[in-house]
Amino acid sequence: MASPAPMKMPTTVNEVAVDLTGVHKWYGEFHVLKDINLTVRRGERIVICGPSGSGKSTMIRCINRLEEHQQGKIVVDGIELTNDLKKIDEIRREVGMVFQHFNLFPHLTILENCTLAPIWVKKMPKKDAEEVAMHYLKRVRIPEQALKYPGQLSGGQQQRVAIARALCMSPKIMLFDEPTSALDPEMVKEVLDTMVGLAEEGMTMLCVTHEMGFARQVANRVIFMDFGQIIEMNEPNEFFSHPQHERTKLFLSQIL
Ligand code: ADP
Ligand code: MG
Repeated sequence: MASPAPMKMPTTVNEVAVDLTGVHKWYGEFHVLKDINLTVRRGERIVICGPSGSGKSTMIRCINRLEEHQQGKIVVDGIELTNDLKKIDEIRREVGMVFQHFNLFPHLTILENCTLAPIWVKKMPKKDAEEVAMHYLKRVRIPEQALKYPGQLSGGQQQRVAIARALCMSPKIMLFDEPTSALDPEMVKEVLDTMVGLAEEGMTMLCVTHEMGFARQVANRVIFMDFGQIIEMNEPNEFFSHPQHERTKLFLSQIL
């Protein structure tokens, strides 16, 4: 095996990648997600915004079962999320996640961070895993950092490693949870550029972000969440120029 599997392009435009129907979640007594309904088609890019505490992270974490929902249905790539651990494993292999705080393993090199899951989860031979890792490190434009440790890299570089690491598993869907909000301003662009590149290749993406330039550039739809609900959902131009709800207008006036 010389080169990694090509990025999975959308086969049928109408194919559903992620489907949430009537999803509710509680943290103890606290009703954090209230009747979430969202269908994401393959190749679609969804940007999710909303005030802090509105449930954005919880919603995307439910999609790869980092959090459990209590009511309603979540189907990812045709697999319904239940307590079946085998199915959860299957979904986690297909869904890549990038967090605000990179979450790289500090005691492993960049290359080892990227090869860990392919070797242990996918049982890929080490040499092949390293080839795949170098391929994606080149794509995020930091192959020369492969033998360094995360602490030796800038925040922007670490976040690009986190993206490369997720891509090494050939995910069908990528989830981003405020990937640039912990970065110094001068590093935001290099991470956003990487994400734009992914979008252009047809990756299905759900991104929690307040980078509205990014939303305008790549999103098919922008979602506004507040108090655990999807308050508004529209294509970016409409969303920004004609927000329908007072809460959306207020939110946009504060961040734009
Ligand atoms: P957002 O990402 O939009 O800021 P979150 O999904 O992180 O929102 O959180 C939504 C709400 O749920 C917040 O009020 C937060 O305090 C609460 N919350 C988040 N995680 C937990 C948890 N593990 N246990 C209890 N409450 C939580
Ligand atoms: Mg959050």
